[in-house]
Amino acid sequence: MPEEASRIWHPNFKKYTDFIVKHPNYKGLFFEYSADGNVKWVVTGKSDNGLKRRVWWNARCRENKIKIEPGCYAKIALAIHPTKKHVCQICGKSLIIEYVYPNKRLINNIKKEFGIEYTPYDKTIFDIVNDLAKNLINLNKFLTIFKISGPSIKTKKELNDYIYQEFTQKNVKAFLSPGVMSNSPDRFDGFHSDGNCCRGVSDKGRHKDNLSRYGQDRRVYENWADGNWKMADRLMSEFSNYGLSADHIGPISLGFCHRPKFQPMTREQNSTKNNRMSFNDVKILINDELEGDKVISWHSRFIWDNLKGGVKNDKDAVKLSSLMRANLHHILTIFSIIKDNGYESFLKRLLHPEYSFYDYKFIGFNPKDGTYKEVKAIERTGKNQQNNVGRYLRIAFDELDQYRSISNRKTKELNNAIINKEIEKLLAQLKGNKNQQAFKNLQQIFKILADQAANSW
Ligand SMILES: [Zn+2]
Repeated sequence: MPEEASRIWHPNFKKYTDFIVKHPNYKGLFFEYSADGNVKWVVTGKSDNGLKRRVWWNARCRENKIKIEPGCYAKIALAIHPTKKHVCQICGKSLIIEYVYPNKRLINNIKKEFGIEYTPYDKTIFDIVNDLAKNLINLNKFLTIFKISGPSIKTKKELNDYIYQEFTQKNVKAFLSPGVMSNSPDRFDGFHSDGNCCRGVSDKGRHKDNLSRYGQDRRVYENWADGNWKMADRLMSEFSNYGLSADHIGPISLGFCHRPKFQPMTREQNSTKNNRMSFNDVKILINDELEGDKVISWHSRFIWDNLKGGVKNDKDAVKLSSLMRANLHHILTIFSIIKDNGYESFLKRLLHPEYSFYDYKFIGFNPKDGTYKEVKAIERTGKNQQNNVGRYLRIAFDELDQYRSISNRKTKELNNAIINKEIEKLLAQLKGNKNQQAFKNLQQIFKILADQAANSW
């Protein structure tokens, strides 16, 4: 997970941030400059500075008669944005923040209907209408790409107005996407720093194309999460059938299991949550454990068990979230060291490709609370399942390579004499084929890391 702070800013993004912080629409919204003269664009949502920003956004919501509830910050960030165009931190491209770009599905529909394949986030639907409507006698035909036969449309302007009103203004996610996802109040302007042009590259796990293409959540593999991932994936699909995003109560990127229990959320809410737990989330997780559920992956159990009891409010929960995230980063770095030393087969045993050989049907799924009456397991042994196993292992191991190259660049990474000594011991055990011992030692290492994290609690 490349940290945004370590990213090099595209010069256009620097210009954009300078323009935005000085714009009167954001008067009074907290920010600072860093030593290098860049705007400190990001604050942690629940830090003191984050709270200052939240207070400001809440005031703007009230002014604009927007009720403070999940999704409200996306609305207000769009409403007050002076240009409605965001600049991507990575590539410097300027994209419109409204729902104007055709998503994969609409691009496919256009291809089927007109034989032309458009590149995502290259042209707005209105540009495309202008392109395609040139040779069209019956403009209504255009609406078939939205699977509707609309009103009688005579001019291109009427057509564009109709699409704007019916799809853009109503944020119809089934067909259109904005150029950037909302992220308030962490980012000053209320939007993610990377535009959707680059979001797939910088944050694969959240990218909707990856999620929807396989109905799978690759974060599960990337973070070496425990849990019946196949059943959880299938339950996630149930949510997306209702246009909802399935929220992990305990985020996978913090070391929690991918288990078939989620909270329904809109995409916007889920992107706002951004891997942070609330006090309430922690309470739910502890309660689920009391009821016999396994919520935490084996590698992250130590830090969770150490610290979960000390969480008394949202601020604690955020603190625990960031400690757990850092801890998982260490864990994956250690896995990557094991891999680099040639013990991939040892690591392979920590993964669970076997879940691939089952499929699940949920009966009586309730999109309001994510519950279901019954789940039916079906055994499957076809070629698809075999391919799935391959993909699962590949993604998990690829991620370790990434961890290694990122952590090499980081300064304070595992600069820890005790841990380094233990890792040496572990590698010696693996060399001597003492896998059982090595696994015990690996757990010991994670326990030490968890104790060290507890010291900074
Ligand atoms: Zn970009």
